[in-house]
Amino acid sequence: MIFDAIFDDMFDEIFGHLDESRACGDSRALLMPVQLDLKPNRRKYTMLKLLIGPLSLKWLAFCALWVVVFCNRAFFGHLLASYPLAEGHVYFLGAVAVLLFGLVLAELCILALVISARLAAIVLLLASSLLSFFTDQYGTVFDSVMVQNLFETQAAEAMNLMSLGLFLQALIFGLLPALGIALLPLSKTSLRAHLQPALGIGIGVGLALAAIAPATATFSSFFREHKALHYFTTPIYSVYGVAGYLKGVLSVDGDRVIMPSSSYAYIPTNDHAYDLVVLIVGETARADHFSLNGYARNTNPKLGRRPDVISFSQMTSCGTSTAVSVPCMFSYDKKSEFDQDSIFESMNVLDTLAKAGVDVLWRDNNSSSKHVADRVRYENYRDRALNTICDVECRDEGMLVGLQSWLTEAPNDKLIVLHQMGSHGPDYFHRYPAGFEQFQPACQTSELGDCSLDEITNAYDNSLLYTDHFIDKAIQLLEQNQGQYEVSLIYVSDHGESLGEQGLYLHGLPDLIAPEAQTHVPLLVWGGISSDIDLGATRKFKDLPFSHDDLPNVLLALFEVETDAFLDLPEPMIMIKPH
Ligand SMILES: [Zn+2]
Repeated sequence: MIFDAIFDDMFDEIFGHLDESRACGDSRALLMPVQLDLKPNRRKYTMLKLLIGPLSLKWLAFCALWVVVFCNRAFFGHLLASYPLAEGHVYFLGAVAVLLFGLVLAELCILALVISARLAAIVLLLASSLLSFFTDQYGTVFDSVMVQNLFETQAAEAMNLMSLGLFLQALIFGLLPALGIALLPLSKTSLRAHLQPALGIGIGVGLALAAIAPATATFSSFFREHKALHYFTTPIYSVYGVAGYLKGVLSVDGDRVIMPSSSYAYIPTNDHAYDLVVLIVGETARADHFSLNGYARNTNPKLGRRPDVISFSQMTSCGTSTAVSVPCMFSYDKKSEFDQDSIFESMNVLDTLAKAGVDVLWRDNNSSSKHVADRVRYENYRDRALNTICDVECRDEGMLVGLQSWLTEAPNDKLIVLHQMGSHGPDYFHRYPAGFEQFQPACQTSELGDCSLDEITNAYDNSLLYTDHFIDKAIQLLEQNQGQYEVSLIYVSDHGESLGEQGLYLHGLPDLIAPEAQTHVPLLVWGGISSDIDLGATRKFKDLPFSHDDLPNVLLALFEVETDAFLDLPEPMIMIKPH
């Protein structure tokens, strides 16, 4: 209403050029019998209107208000939990709403200066409706890592996220208002009309400052104590995410030289037997859902019967997403210093092992190796031409097929990395063959909001049963090769998963607010009779805190590599038998 009062007189010149051209067409029709050439012109005109048409400030303000009210439910939900209405925070809550409105309006108007006001409004409505579905439904935060995940998501994964809820949300809160904006009659294309966004930026910033100014003390403690709340502002925070992602992409120089991480790496000649290590990089497995770690349900029926499996109970992940954790666990940068640029700057432990003469093979049934295996042999097992065990999707077990002949025919020190599909959500029910549906009823949709916590947990735990089976089969393969090789297996998950606790789902939350469910991961060590691992001595460490930082040292120790690449860490995770 305020905007109406201030700007109505400025925009009362709104009129329809479309109607004008239609009128022209009519008058020509009286003179000319043929008027077919008007249709393409009208289409071109409509396209032009959509692309470069201005939009009055009141409509820009309407779009910003729409997004604040309908696309920020998670933000206001968290805000109300911290500042309940009943405790007299009415004025403060109102001020936060005005602040958010001012910022969204300013952001929209900045975009409007770049790509035209009408297109900017449509982009804002569509993007906000989609982003808010995931933020409201799953607690997803769109930081630079999540934006990277989005860009790296493959078509099949994206299809799993499609749901009726997403479609309805996009239709009601995005498509319909966007269509309304697109169909608005065009205001006069004057300089004044094109200056509306600039005015909007001033008003947006002014409103934001006006909201904060009378209560600076309350706001400063709000920004300090509730820093995490800004993660949930749509689309404010996702703009930071996109900017952070683009900054990372643009800073990667294609010709950059990747620095070696060791000046020397070799396996001493007194190590006569070949080492064979299988490293399984798990997906989305939670430590507290492994019965090996005390979970009440038997999710490790096969591994639980193996006394030579050691489960490390206090293991934390480097990140909460595959894109961070996978490169980080192979990197010589510790979690505290790891950033994704380092993938393109320095070599990882696989490079050191290859340099020392180990045959490294990476088989992937997930999205990719995240550039970890760029310089070693890589095979994509989501490809049905390669993976011989596929039904609704290609199964992790397929990665074991054909390994035996490679082990027999070309003996050498070998590291086989198997990157699992594991328990990747939200469609946990797709992650296991039908025979593994032991916990019932299991959620049968990727729309987690339609399932109870128990149903989601059942489907998730069934996927862990399949992982238990897969690891057991990998151990069987190693057992068959104990005569020829010194065999060991490491299993570690990349990150955990929220299954609906505190309204959070999936993974990928920033460190600051990530719950333990997303960072506490299982790590298993198995050593065969011929293994170099001193299982008795190693077992003593199983309840000490370790993290993904320890993996490079573990791999170097297993192959007994002499190198200066070892990381300086407080405790070794595994003990090696003296030769
Ligand atoms: Zn992952």
